[in-house]
Order: sequence, then structure tokens, then C-alpha cells
Amino acid sequence: MDVNSRATAFLLAATISLVTTAFLSLIEGTSSVALLVAGAISFSCTFLLCYLTLEFLIFKEIKDIHEVLNELKNDESFEDEIAQDSRAQINPLKRINQKIKSFASNKQAEIEALKRTNRFRREFLADVSHELKTPIFAAQGFIYTLLEGAVDDKRIRMKFLKKAAKSLDGLDRLVKDLLTVSQMEIGAITMQKEIFDIRALAFEVLDQLERKASKQGTNIVIDEENKNPVFVIADKMRINQVITNLLENAIKYGREIEGFVQISFRNKEDFIEVSVRDNGAGIPQEHLNRVFERFFMVDKSRNKNTSKKGSGLGLSIVKHIIEAHGSEIQVESKLGIGTVFTFYLEKALKEKVKKESVEEI
Ligand code: ADP
Repeated sequence: MDVNSRATAFLLAATISLVTTAFLSLIEGTSSVALLVAGAISFSCTFLLCYLTLEFLIFKEIKDIHEVLNELKNDESFEDEIAQDSRAQINPLKRINQKIKSFASNKQAEIEALKRTNRFRREFLADVSHELKTPIFAAQGFIYTLLEGAVDDKRIRMKFLKKAAKSLDGLDRLVKDLLTVSQMEIGAITMQKEIFDIRALAFEVLDQLERKASKQGTNIVIDEENKNPVFVIADKMRINQVITNLLENAIKYGREIEGFVQISFRNKEDFIEVSVRDNGAGIPQEHLNRVFERFFMVDKSRNKNTSKKGSGLGLSIVKHIIEAHGSEIQVESKLGIGTVFTFYLEKALKEKVKKESVEEI
């Protein structure tokens, strides 16, 4: 039953007229007609008074508040909550109370989300400007030194020009990575899936990184156990980027003497498990779940001061690519022992591989 002005007025009027009639009946000589008339008059007067007061002073205002709240929010789950609460169904004030509470908690959640986004944007801007500043300042420094006279010395000229070019190459890489991350985050990049041999792709990447690896003295091995092709359904270009980033990291953060990196493929039921394992310094446990965040670097100062220069975007791109394939990437690491990154890709069925190996899915 819903509490409304008419029902409340009726109850009050009935009670008051009953009490009045009961008192009158105590007076000796009061006829039953007089009692009936008194009861009827007190009932109608009380009913009218109560009805008008409740309707225009209280219930109308409550109805208006309800309407305003309903306009502000249209939350079906909340209506369900009220429907289940019998006290809230009967009492309109309780209903308003619940609506205001739910409205306030929703607004609080929205404010928290906005605050988080704002903090995230601020941090992102600070990180981007910091990362951009480093190569720009370096290139600027070399060029101004040349302009201030060093250009006349042929040896210094070449050295500084090479250094400036290297800084600008770094800047170019950083901007490209930033674009990739932001496009991936807004979902602007779709995966162009095809069937390809990921083992052969790993060899292609290895060819490109051969120089870097031998410079660092790292030995890279691709699954020796099974030399058969490993067919997967994925975006070949993007998976190339994933393997490149993982291998570059394995070389960069790998052991400086007797560095060893192994890429292996495991045949699972519907997918292929790909892992890149190194015997480097490893990642501390407390940072393991943060390495995929953009701009995260385990040791910023170490990365900046040595050849291990990075932007902290590589693994974030890797994660986005793997997730865009509907899959996931995991990392395990032990300090002083090494790190292994593992991801999964859809396996290409034999019939499909035979029919067409470069068909777009
Ligand atoms: P970066 O450009 O700094 O290499 P990444 O996103 O690729 O950025 O990696 C984030 C951080 O994770 C790196 O700065 C490094 O500290 C750590 N890291 C990544 N791969 C490895 C690895 N194989 N061994 C040890 N540390 C690693």
C-alpha cells in the first residue's frame, strides 16, 4: 500500500471522529442522532483539513522532489532496490532518502573517476614533456656548440652531428611509440589478422637485431627442439613489433657477460604459447605488475645514464597489441636469474594453413 494524503487524512479523520463521539457518548442525555451528527461533522472537517494540508503542503512537495530526482538520474538498479524494500514503498520520505543517498554515492563515484582521469592526464603530460625534453635538449646542445665555433673542427663537427642525429632518432622513435600507444588506447588500430609462421618471423627479427645482440655479447636462440613451422593467426606486423620489443629488452637488460636469450614456442590445445626468456638481472617482484604501464621504468636513473636508455613505452605497446588479439601477456622474473615474458596466440588449423597461408581473416 502506498501512503498518500487521502488515506492518511481518512485514518486521522476516522480516529478523531471516533474519539469525539466516544467522549460525547459519556455525556448523559446525548441522543444517538446528536452523536451521529457530531461524528459525521468531526469526520468531514478533519478529513478536509488533513487532506488539504497533507496534499498541498507535504505530498505535493515530496512529489516535486521525486520528479526532480528522477530527472537527475535514471537508475534502474536503484528502482529495483526500492521495489524490494517494503518500508521504502510505503513511506515516500524513506523513498526520497534512499534516492538522495544513491544519487550522492553515484555522484561521489563520478567525482572519484574524474579525479583519477585528471591525475592520470597530469601525470601523462608531465611524463610526455619530460621524455620529449631529453632528446630535444641533447640535440639542441650539440647544434649550438657547433654554431658557437666547434663547426670549424672537422673531428668534433662529425662527432657532434652524429650525436645530434642520434638524439633526433630517439625523439622520432619516442613520438612514433607515443602515437602507437594513444591510437591503441582509443581503439583506432585494428588487427589485420593473417596466417603466418611465427618461428620464421622470429628469425627475421633476429636478423635485424643481430648487430645489437653481438655488440652486447648476447646469444639469442630460437626453439631448437622443434624445427617445424609454427602457424598462428595474428597481425604479423604487430607481432613483429612485440617480438622486437621483447628481444630488444632482453638484450638491453640482459646479462652483460654471457647473456643468453631464448625464444620458444609451445603447442597448446587451441593456441601457441610464445616465451622470451633471458638470464639478465631480473625485475624486482614489487615492480612486476607495473612494467606494462606506460612510462614505467624499473630504475629511471640507471636507464638514463647508460646505453639502457628507454622511454618506458615498449612493454605498454606489447601489452596493447597482445590484448587487441584477445589474449594476454605474463611476466615472471627472479632477481639475478632472469626474466621470462609469455604470451599466447591463436593457433592456425592445419586445413587452413594448407589452403591459404596469407589469407586475411
Ligand atoms: P624501456 O623503453 O624503458 O625499455 P619498456 O616498457 O620496454 O621500456 O620496459 C619497462 C621497464 O621494464 C624497463 O625500463 C626495464 O626496467 C624493465 N624491463 C623490461 N624488460 C626487462 C627484462 N627483460 N629484464 C629486466 N628488466 C626489464
